[in-house]
Amino acid sequence: MDDQREIERKWQRRWEVERLLELDLDRVDPSRKFYNLVEFPYPSAEGLHVGHAYTYCGADTFGRFRRMQGRELFQPIGFDSFGIHTENYALKANQHPIRLTANTIENYRRQLRRLGAAFEWSREVVTSDPSYYRWTQWVFLQLYRAGLAYRAEAPVVWCPSCLTVLAYEQLEGDRCERCGTVVTERVMKQWFLRITAYADRLVDGLGSLDWPEVAKQIQRKWIGRRTGAEVRFEVPAVGQTLTAFTTRADTLFGATFVAIASSHPLAPRLTGATAVHPGTGAPLPVLAADYVMEGVGTGVVMGVPAHDQRDHGFALANGLPVVRVVEGGELPWTGEGRLVASGEFTGMA
Ligand SMILES: [Zn+2]
Repeated sequence: MDDQREIERKWQRRWEVERLLELDLDRVDPSRKFYNLVEFPYPSAEGLHVGHAYTYCGADTFGRFRRMQGRELFQPIGFDSFGIHTENYALKANQHPIRLTANTIENYRRQLRRLGAAFEWSREVVTSDPSYYRWTQWVFLQLYRAGLAYRAEAPVVWCPSCLTVLAYEQLEGDRCERCGTVVTERVMKQWFLRITAYADRLVDGLGSLDWPEVAKQIQRKWIGRRTGAEVRFEVPAVGQTLTAFTTRADTLFGATFVAIASSHPLAPRLTGATAVHPGTGAPLPVLAADYVMEGVGTGVVMGVPAHDQRDHGFALANGLPVVRVVEGGELPWTGEGRLVASGEFTGMA
């Protein structure tokens, strides 16, 4: 076993001495260049974890394969060391992030070299270095001037342990994916980037992209474009109209209540009021519900307990009627079927 370690050391040293992995970018033949980029690690722990080794070895194998096919490989590496991961790690270790990060990065470098991955160390990037983040700031200013960065108050998912806002995809059920703490909701004034301005282009562009279908699906799901209808419910007693967004307008006749986010500005005035069903004219109770988020859709949900899981749970808990309008299996039935009890639409698929 000692031999193997000695052989490894010998060849890694030789790669370094001969600067085998360095590439003169100005002299690369454009027809042969190959840019193999991996996501840079967050140096937010004492060292690499097995997941890093797993991904980097895979990507490195691919890069080496390309080089053996005659491509001029540029395979950069760096450290994503500016942000919440580093900040939380520094808090936990009770050390200044600048010093801590420098030490941690040194250890990551040592470990990444030992993996034998063919990274281009001469062009390493460290995102907490001012020479790097001045460009982050520059990009932010361009976004701000273009109206794509703005401040607003909005409810967010908050992890009381990580002390940070989480995206929905960072949740596992109602828990933070990093620390397992049950999350809460908070209203906060914060910076937003208007990425939704590009949502349609992003979704449409995926079609012509040479990516595995599974990766494209993840993107589509993340962008979350939904096609549906807005349904208006009049609330005559207070002279207001509530607009609900739904992807299942076909289940309209099964609506037995209207739910609004508890943080909705109209919630205090409307709770206990009655809305009018736009199809039947029947009175529907308006109720504040925790499962309706103000920042999602319109913050108003048409409650169709027979054909939506969350509406169903809420209706059962509050003794609201459950009216089936789509034929099919056990309730709540979210599949397809023929419409029943739906006025002039009854019998349609
Ligand atoms: Zn957490």
